[in-house]
Amino acid sequence: MNGAEPTIDLKRNRDRMVRDQIAARGVSDPEVLRAMRKVPRHLFVEEALIPQAYEDHPLPLGHGQTISQPYVVAWMTELLEVKPGLRVLEIGTGSGYQAAVLAEMGAYVFTVERVRPLQAAARRRLEGLRYLKVCFKLDDGTLGWPDAAPFDRILVTAGGPKVPEPLIEQLADPGRMVIPVGETRRSQRLHVVRKENGRVVARRLGEVTFVDLVGAHGW
Ligand code: SAH
Repeated sequence: MNGAEPTIDLKRNRDRMVRDQIAARGVSDPEVLRAMRKVPRHLFVEEALIPQAYEDHPLPLGHGQTISQPYVVAWMTELLEVKPGLRVLEIGTGSGYQAAVLAEMGAYVFTVERVRPLQAAARRRLEGLRYLKVCFKLDDGTLGWPDAAPFDRILVTAGGPKVPEPLIEQLADPGRMVIPVGETRRSQRLHVVRKENGRVVARRLGEVTFVDLVGAHGW
């Protein structure tokens, strides 16, 4: 990437992505739209995929993992109701893109990944972009991050067979979790889990397809 023009094109592609893929499908939280317009998604994919970075589909990250479709990132972020200063636990750092969107919205991000090279690349990207309120952990995220709990928000970006019990325990009261859950590995439904006054209530939303959440409470 050299010269001013390609950079301008990428910004234009990003604005179009937000308008045509995200706002057009009903995501309306102005802070989510602002963050999606701001975070340079093309820096979270390998160089050969930069021309596709703003297209309407997921992209491979290597190690059998994917960076979610932009709309799915925006939808999940809106459902999470992120506010500045909240403590957000993310399971599945992957490329670091979702963590950057959360950090751009002013959250303190705690992100857990089990694949070391993915974590290393994500950390480099986030530090390079000066998203400094992000803490990384290399571990089985289905166990959560007990030392840093409780969390106001929990976002799981891989699909498992159930909501991991440690994550329910580590959710603050009041707190909110967004997580794909499926009876099979092929597809899941997004769940919004709310904890309030000691009660935990789950709402099932639309169908999504994520890579497997593995680990003690995963597949
Ligand atoms: N949020 C990412 C996309 C994640 S893809 C992004 O914005 O790019 C799902 C990720 O979850 C993969 O990187 C995978 O390695 C990770 N993962 C799967 N099971 C996990 C577990 N039990 N603990 C931590 N990470 C896990």
